[in-house]
Amino acid sequence: MKKVTILGSTGSIGTQAITVCETGGFPVVGLAALRNEELLEEQTRRCRPKMVCIFDESRYGSFKSRVADLDVQVVTGIDGLCALAALEDADLTLNAVSGMIGLRPTLAAIEAGKDVALANKETLVTGGELVMKAARDRGVRILPVDSEHSAIFQSLEGYRHCRVNKILLTASGGPFFGKTREELRQVTPETALRHPNWSMGAKITIDSATLMNKGLEVIEAVHLFGVRPEQVEVVVHRESVIHSLVEFEDYAVIGQLGVPDMKIPIQYALTYPDRMPCPTKRLRLTDYKTLTFFDPDPDTFVCLSAAFQAIRRGGLYPTLVNCANEALVPLFLQGKISFLQIGELVQEALSLKNDALVTVENILEAERQAREFVRERVSP
Ligand code: NDP
Ligand code: MG
Repeated sequence: MKKVTILGSTGSIGTQAITVCETGGFPVVGLAALRNEELLEEQTRRCRPKMVCIFDESRYGSFKSRVADLDVQVVTGIDGLCALAALEDADLTLNAVSGMIGLRPTLAAIEAGKDVALANKETLVTGGELVMKAARDRGVRILPVDSEHSAIFQSLEGYRHCRVNKILLTASGGPFFGKTREELRQVTPETALRHPNWSMGAKITIDSATLMNKGLEVIEAVHLFGVRPEQVEVVVHRESVIHSLVEFEDYAVIGQLGVPDMKIPIQYALTYPDRMPCPTKRLRLTDYKTLTFFDPDPDTFVCLSAAFQAIRRGGLYPTLVNCANEALVPLFLQGKISFLQIGELVQEALSLKNDALVTVENILEAERQAREFVRERVSP
């Protein structure tokens, strides 16, 4: 069985990944969290990993004493997280941290020759060129965990030599599907956090409500599958049963279906190219009766158009819009900006200028630029 390291083990994807590893018999050799010491300790006792990273340096001492009776190496900070991502014992690193902090650990895992199961889409949004090239050069696999990208990856199995016309990226539409801008003026964090189909971390749930999540996924698809932005079409599919599809040059369309449960794509990234029974419900199409499809509304959900524009421009523009959004979502959750301001300011971030080459250093500089822009535009 593949030995797995889980970055972001205390989160929504991370906890489901532990369930998948336990039921499937995959040894977990590394764990990482930002600050949730209690759950990280519980996971350390359960999984008995070789190395654990508590990223928040102020918690390093107290976490170390919590697990002092165990034979485990505790590390901290970005260097600790990168060391964990490259852990010698692991065959595969699952990156499920939230935000672009995931970029450097992804690169560290690739350099160490690990296959990477990638949930952290911000890694590809900001450093897609670097990551895909590093993976090719090092001969390792990037296995998508994001449900849509896992569906596309599965739809392409056996057809990698065939010409793709387009990718049909499905979107649930989030909690505000069909609403006008006027109706979205009074949205509170509480209503935005209520996703109809998926239970996820707070950041991605807000991104699903603004459709920024779908925008990030368009960029993710461009990098993962080597297509042009114009080849990615977003289709709103409220039921989240068809997880995405690929149209080939003969107009045959192949997709992947299943209940909306992230354990399926998480497990496939671990078992690839094989499959095994998954701890989830089975799909019964007759429970649904009908499946529906709509065009997205780009005038209301401006984040989606901003993401398309950013990837068409390329370079560091996806980083600028992504990092503006990463800075804006917590401000919305703290009640400091309105729901609509997220989209307005993400769009405005496109007017920032940065035509530098895509390198790790320049990505981090573009992140600072976007965060500075948000600080200036949102008075405390
Ligand atoms: P959560 O907010 O639920 O969890 C984030 C996890 O990352 C937590 O374990 C958190 O630790 C940890 N973390 C955050 N920053 C760091 C850091 N600097 N170092 C180490 N650990 C860190 O997020 P999700 O699980 O929802 O999402 C994770 C990623 O997966 C995101 O990129 C998201 O876009 C993607 N994704 C998620 C899906 C979902 O269904 N949830 C679906 C598809 C993609 P702590 O608990 O201590 O804060
Ligand atoms: Mg997704």
